Amino acid sequence: MNYINGTHQENIIFVVDDNPVNLKVLFTLLKESGFKVLVATNGTDALQKLQNVKPHLILLDVSMPNISGFELCKRLKASEKTADIPVVFLTALSDLEHKLEGLSLGAVDFICKPFQKQEVLSRICLHLKLSQLQQALHQQNQKLRNAVVEKESAEAELVKLNNQLEQKVSDRTQELSEAVTQLATQQAQLDYKANHDVLTELPNRAFFMERLQKILKQSDRDWTLLWLDLDNFKKINDSFGHIVGDRLLQRVAQRLQSVLGEEGIIARLGGDEFAILHPHEESNCDFGELAQTLINKLQRPFTLQHYIITVNASIGTIASIANYSDSTELLRDADFALYQAKSLGKGQYAILTPQLKIQSLERIQIETDLSRGMDRNEFCLHYQPIFSLKTKNLVGFEALIRWQHPKKGLLMPNRFIPIAEETGMVEKLDLWTLKTACDRLRLWKQEFGIDDTFSVSVNYSSVTLQSLERLASLDWSEYLQDLAPENLKIEITESGFWEASVAGMDVLKSLVDRRIKLCIDDFGTGFSSLSRLHSFPAQILKIDRSFVKRLDVGMGGLAVVQTITNLAQDLGMDIIAEGIETQEQLTFLENLMCNFGQGYLFSKPLSVTEATHLLSNYFPAEQNLHYA
Ligand code: C2E
Ligand code: MG
Ligand code: MG
Repeated sequence: MNYINGTHQENIIFVVDDNPVNLKVLFTLLKESGFKVLVATNGTDALQKLQNVKPHLILLDVSMPNISGFELCKRLKASEKTADIPVVFLTALSDLEHKLEGLSLGAVDFICKPFQKQEVLSRICLHLKLSQLQQALHQQNQKLRNAVVEKESAEAELVKLNNQLEQKVSDRTQELSEAVTQLATQQAQLDYKANHDVLTELPNRAFFMERLQKILKQSDRDWTLLWLDLDNFKKINDSFGHIVGDRLLQRVAQRLQSVLGEEGIIARLGGDEFAILHPHEESNCDFGELAQTLINKLQRPFTLQHYIITVNASIGTIASIANYSDSTELLRDADFALYQAKSLGKGQYAILTPQLKIQSLERIQIETDLSRGMDRNEFCLHYQPIFSLKTKNLVGFEALIRWQHPKKGLLMPNRFIPIAEETGMVEKLDLWTLKTACDRLRLWKQEFGIDDTFSVSVNYSSVTLQSLERLASLDWSEYLQDLAPENLKIEITESGFWEASVAGMDVLKSLVDRRIKLCIDDFGTGFSSLSRLHSFPAQILKIDRSFVKRLDVGMGGLAVVQTITNLAQDLGMDIIAEGIETQEQLTFLENLMCNFGQGYLFSKPLSVTEATHLLSNYFPAEQNLHYA
């Protein structure tokens, strides 16, 4: 705004003067110049009016009665409400000292009386402008101060936020590290579960195989591998139940660990099978000793619930695994060593020797050749004559399988039947034997007119429920076409009967219902007690060769055979003695009233041609045909 030429309607000028003439002149002058004008004639009046109005400038006379201009100025400057109003003194006193006093009280200027109108207006406008600038400056300052305060508080807020952020980051880091630790723990638990057997807490097969692979690839030391299997563990489960079986496995694991201590790795591979890797010692007898110690330790009775249980373990040992690069080959050999140990009897160990290794390889070869042999018709049957010890008549044959192997020549059943049993091939072989024997008997019957009392015995070694069911569900009318059921006998080993389930026994009974006779083969070598004999649905009992052999060497064989024959006779069973080789044995057996016999004394197993020739000698002439 232009304060000289413009209007001043907004500006209020307060004139305080006790001189009415001055008041009037100034009032008129200021009014005309566009100011709003307020007047007072003394200090008291002025203070009163200033309660309600705040002028933009005060023209203040110095010399006034009661309250002088200086005094009034002093009070105005002391009051917060009026302190910032510019005060211009009107005075006739123009000495410097006077002016300085006025200025020190806070006045902004002096106008000397008598005043020039133009000077009054100019000074008023100047001080209004100054006052306005001052206020603007003040506001600016205020704003600046506010900005500073704002900035400071923003900075404080920022620091606070920063702190909060840092806290959050630290909390999050903490949470994260806890989560990572938890995850690591969970992972470790998962890893543990994946690598350990739940029952015994030993490393499991997966872990063992992984370690074994690593050792075979990287280890700079040699190790001994022991492959351990409990003997007849199935029986323990069957007799005492699975809970006791499980507890026993836990205790077995503990005992094995107590022998091995921190040395070596022991794993449960499943079932009753354990594998042990032990740092290799130099001499052979050390790991033999270790195997024996493990066997001895397990032989000590276990007390479980209220049972006292003893177990035996068989151990197959690979003394040094250094020569193996492939775990499959190593495990195959270990398995074979275990197989050897099992064949030595209960609670034995076997160490794989180069010779056993050759057998192992041959075993594998036979395993692979077996099914091909079936397809290529490489099997044939030999027939061992069976005679009545009472009438001396030829009463039948036992059909015994042979394998005409393209490279190995004629193989006896002990070379391939156990392998076929393990691989599941045996059922196929047995059914082939059954069919071939029935076909052969039919031809002989046609040729020689042999009657229903003549029989062919066929060995059947699959005694799983499934294989027995298959046997029972055969189309028997086809097998027995033109034959009487009595012409056929099926031989199942004593252990086969012993292991057959209740359902399996029922299946066997169904065969008996068809009038097919069942024979307990190799009696005396299995596990059954004589008291169980009556529960087997068999009509014939074959005394094992090992007992017959002991008859003539005075090894107590006589008493055993006598007990067996007495019991079998009491049960109304027929008895066949196997493996009669000497006249002495025959005499013993005849005295014991044993009904039938077979053995080298009479004849070795014969080829079809030889057996046919034998038959042609004996039939059709009847009662007068005797063994040589
Ligand atoms: P096994 O059923 O006890 O058959 C008797 C075995 O004793 C036959 O051996 C026979 O040759 C032999 N033997 C007979 N008399 C004498 C003797 O006076 N002295 C001696 N030292 N041995 C004698 P082979 O033919 O080697 O058969 C062995 C076993 O193989 C058989 O024992 C039988 O368990 C099994 N087997 C034979 N053929 C078959 C078959 O077709 N299926 C099944 N599953 N097993 C069969
Ligand atoms: Mg037999
Ligand atoms: Mg036998």
